[in-house]
Amino acid sequence: MATSCSGRRNIQGHPCFGGDHRKNGRIHLAVAPRCTIKCAYCTRKHDCVNESRPGVASRILTPQEALEKVREVVASETLGPIIKVVGIAGPGDPLANEETFETFRLVREEFPHLVKCLSTNGLLLPETVDRLGALGLGSLTITINAIDPAVGAKIYSHIFYQGKRYSGAEGASILIANQLEGLARAAELGIVVKINTVLIPGVNDGEIELISRRVKALGAAVMNVMPLIPQADMAHVSPPSPKYLEEVRSIGERVIGQFRNCRQCRADAVGLIGEEGAGARCAVPAAGG
Ligand code: SF4
Ligand code: SF4
Ligand code: SF4
Repeated sequence: MATSCSGRRNIQGHPCFGGDHRKNGRIHLAVAPRCTIKCAYCTRKHDCVNESRPGVASRILTPQEALEKVREVVASETLGPIIKVVGIAGPGDPLANEETFETFRLVREEFPHLVKCLSTNGLLLPETVDRLGALGLGSLTITINAIDPAVGAKIYSHIFYQGKRYSGAEGASILIANQLEGLARAAELGIVVKINTVLIPGVNDGEIELISRRVKALGAAVMNVMPLIPQADMAHVSPPSPKYLEEVRSIGERVIGQFRNCRQCRADAVGLIGEEGAGARCAVPAAGG
């Protein structure tokens, strides 16, 4: 994996990290169904990271099927030239699925020029980040919604970690500590890190500035504040207005660059951001995007 002069891996053109999203696209491989935490905004009936509308769910691929999908897309006259990134973003948490690692191994062997990208809730990062680095991961997105475990407890009802279930602030504090530790290690390895934060009015508004400071200090490159999509246990919460979202992003921007082109794509999206056609614009802000 090439690195830039700053020591960061080369992900030039990556549309989710500020590259030209009118020219450069990505393919998502839905190889990761399992998850290790429960976010209040997740229904678990559809793609976690990515799809919230009833009736639209991606088919889970095996690593071999995923490789075949990449072959097909790369060979396609229309998509082949624009695909720069292979991403794994769900539908569950990629790191909770061994298939994620096998898929990257296969893709890397055959398509070393494609940027490997992953989105995660971060719980399992400390124990997997070195493996990801060795597999040539170029970019990583971690969804961090809180720094204060008491706020985290309102968002994450429980986590499963090392064979045990932890709920409330206890679970949230393990999750948050692992997210931050994993972020620091990923940045040390030169992986380019984006932080996704789901803005949940009345719940984590007060955390945004703190999150931006902590993640910047630990080496994150960019932040993506995403509006809540009200569903599941948060179906009753009003999403932020576009104006409020922009105000919050401006607060974060004083500390760390803000990514504003996110369209909250689904886990099996292919092509240019926002141009997958009917049925492809998604919704959930969970592990990924
Ligand atoms: Fe759902 Fe993703 Fe949260 Fe897991 S990390 S509970 S799949 S939103
Ligand atoms: Fe990577 Fe997320 Fe963009 Fe997919 S949506 S390519 S996983 S940053
Ligand atoms: Fe990029 Fe957002 Fe889509 Fe991820 S969900 S590929 S960050 S536009």
